[in-house]
Amino acid sequence: MANNLKNINQGKSWIEVPENSDFPLQNIPFGIIAPENKTPRPATRVGDTIIDLSELADFGFFDQLGIDDLTAFYSPVLNDFIALGKKYTVPVRERLIELFSEGNTELQNQKDLLETAFYTAGSVEVLLPVDIGDYTDFYSSIEHAANVGKMFRDPENALLPNWKHLPVGYHGRSSSIVVSGTNIVRPKGQIKLPEQENPVFEATQKLDYELEMAFITGKENTLGQPIPIEETSKYIFGMVIFNDLSARDIQKWEYVPLGPFLGKNFGSVISPWIVTMEALEPFRIAGPEQKPEVLPYLRLSGKNNFDIKLQVSIIPENGLENIVCRSNTKYLYWSMNQQLAHHTVNGCNIRPGDMYASGTISGKDESSFGSLLELSWGGKKPVSLKGGVSRTFIEDNDTIVMRAHAEKYGLRIGFGEVKTKILPAVKY
Ligand code: CA
Repeated sequence: MANNLKNINQGKSWIEVPENSDFPLQNIPFGIIAPENKTPRPATRVGDTIIDLSELADFGFFDQLGIDDLTAFYSPVLNDFIALGKKYTVPVRERLIELFSEGNTELQNQKDLLETAFYTAGSVEVLLPVDIGDYTDFYSSIEHAANVGKMFRDPENALLPNWKHLPVGYHGRSSSIVVSGTNIVRPKGQIKLPEQENPVFEATQKLDYELEMAFITGKENTLGQPIPIEETSKYIFGMVIFNDLSARDIQKWEYVPLGPFLGKNFGSVISPWIVTMEALEPFRIAGPEQKPEVLPYLRLSGKNNFDIKLQVSIIPENGLENIVCRSNTKYLYWSMNQQLAHHTVNGCNIRPGDMYASGTISGKDESSFGSLLELSWGGKKPVSLKGGVSRTFIEDNDTIVMRAHAEKYGLRIGFGEVKTKILPAVKY
């Protein structure tokens, strides 16, 4: 494996890959494109080139892989492809690396195919990659949970008693998860202003983002049969960047006692390319030490965290981009394996295409806080931006951009970006 990895890292593609691209030959993420006058279909990306996988399937490039039914390569969502299982999706990725490798002429010689299957990024619409059946949002960053606890409860007991014993999460809503480039309307809702006895109905004044990463499962378990933690990696297909937009004032009034609801489900935005766990393998690192020791069903040795650099930018109407946060997935206290083992320990069944967000990923330093709630400390400390403007929360027509990439030994594997603009609330 190590040797393979080393060789693969040195591989170059005959497709041009710009310096510092998130999508070298070794990435091969999966997404869905909608070319003009064609049905949506699976695709991958190398550098700034997007490749239509259904066209490659038409030409028989996957025939040798023993996949009986190739309909997954023609589906408008990746669920069928992901559900083939790693037994097939890993060889498909390896086959694509082979086809795109410098010196390989199988595909290069098919000039007609290059005309119909290759697109320049930006010239073809990229859609939501999966039909998300169920969506769960965790709360796995100890720094984020502690910051929120300090702000809203007791600075001395920032973490609730359960926090270090289980990965806290809630069931979110999948219908409002949209792909990068989709703009989100500022929500209205019930807000309890401190000076008034009764709530008012108005547009949120505390619109925030949450910097998260999400994983997508590729395999189902039977209802009633937990996934042992040692098996969880087999169920995780890949990851995307996840911007979990949040209305803090709506959230604060509604969340007791059943948790987040309308303060969270008005829109979450994801990056369009699912980066596989195989592509992220070189960036595994050990997670933080967990004290007190967790229950046996949550114990897993080895490198179960990932070193993925994250950043958040705000672009106000003046068009000036401001990087307001640099964080990293390595700060997460609870690993994806632990999240999935916990999620299913009661027998809950999961399915291909389900999505699980990490929770806001904050580090120790203020510069790594993954939400404006934390950066502005509940709205008390405005964040200065270029052009003489500042923010405590997101304003109308602000654009939020999140980026993520891992880098090691000259190999950079990235997710591209997730971008969304906040539109003014509807009038009625
Ligand atoms: Ca969240």
